[in-house]
Amino acid sequence: MTKIAIIGAGLSGLSIAHLLKDYAQITVFEKARGVSGRLSTRRAEPYVFDHGAQYFTARTQVFQDFIQPFIKQGIIERWNARYVKFDDDEIVEQKNWVDDEPRYVGVPQMNKVAKYLAAGLNVHVNTRIVSLEHEKSWKLIDEKGHLYNDFDWVISAVPSPQAAELLPSAFAYHANICAIEMRACFSLMLGFSERLPLDFEAAHVTNSDLSWIAINSQKPGRVDQYTLMVHSSGDYAEAHIDDDREAVMQHLIAQTSRIIGHDVSTADYKTVHGWRYANNAKREISPVFLDQNLKLAACGDWCLGGRVEGAFTSSHRLFCAMRELAL
Ligand SMILES: Cc1cc2nc3c(=O)[nH]c(=O)nc-3n(C[C@H](O)[C@H](O)[C@H](O)COP(=O)(O)OP(=O)(O)OC[C@H]3O[C@@H](n4cnc5c(N)ncnc54)[C@H](O)[C@@H]3O)c2cc1C
Repeated sequence: MTKIAIIGAGLSGLSIAHLLKDYAQITVFEKARGVSGRLSTRRAEPYVFDHGAQYFTARTQVFQDFIQPFIKQGIIERWNARYVKFDDDEIVEQKNWVDDEPRYVGVPQMNKVAKYLAAGLNVHVNTRIVSLEHEKSWKLIDEKGHLYNDFDWVISAVPSPQAAELLPSAFAYHANICAIEMRACFSLMLGFSERLPLDFEAAHVTNSDLSWIAINSQKPGRVDQYTLMVHSSGDYAEAHIDDDREAVMQHLIAQTSRIIGHDVSTADYKTVHGWRYANNAKREISPVFLDQNLKLAACGDWCLGGRVEGAFTSSHRLFCAMRELAL
């Protein structure tokens, strides 16, 4: 059976592993201590935060079909949030997502989707792959110097700047990947013992150092203590990604308080996480990055303009291309 190494256990790596598992022997390598990547959840008892992706859409039939079993099993639910749009501190739009395009979330937390996909797969966590070598087959080397031999194919499912570092320059699409930029984002996590008197559960924010505010604990299926999840704008994060985290946190807390009109500095739990590669700089659609000669491929949200659905769709497109090669 063909042996395939997949680097990265976010949604794209796990999706391609899931799709290929009946046709090849799959091994997934993940640098973090668990799966899910940017579809992740942070626990700080009694608080729980989806600090990466907030929700996702399913606009294509293939993704709608893919998520049906998750919906049936209660792992994904539609989020019918009361939604507002802020222009800085002014509300300029209001609607209820029950009357709008469906938005979905993992239940009872975002990373359940990735955990479900990973079940039954051979995933090596805590394993950062640092280089690839090819003789008769592919050999992967991790940061501790361990070797993983005898792979016919290697698929990279990591953000584009990391894929550019990992994949050899001989890879047919190396220059394309180098040109795909990703932008940073900060996630501010706030936990409260008391609810805040807010009239919305989800908010986009424009013309501000913030881009998103949500009541995480009021997503479907959550039974946890009251939490707010705030994301910075890409511009703010790009300018401050290497700054002292305490200063970033205080700034984001002050902006949140000002915009929602409630002092959130009184939160019982506060922390900030910086994502260096959160989202695509541009929403572009790339070709399928498959090099048949080298038996190397790449997928990820960045191949299709970012977002959860893009991550899945890029894996699905790669799967179809590999099946055409009779893999
Ligand atoms: C703050 C934030 C908010 C977002 N909000 C939304 C949203 O509301 N809706 C939406 O649709 N999308 C959103 N997104 C984007 C969404 O999270 C991503 O599109 C999607 O999760 C990407 O999945 P992926 O598998 O392509 O990449 P990732 O999830 O980044 O997975 C890549 C994996 O590769 C691992 N890895 C990297 N390098 C190595 C290596 N050398 N060796 C081994 N493993 C490695 C990483 O640890 C990671 O687990 C958001 C993202 C962020 C960060």
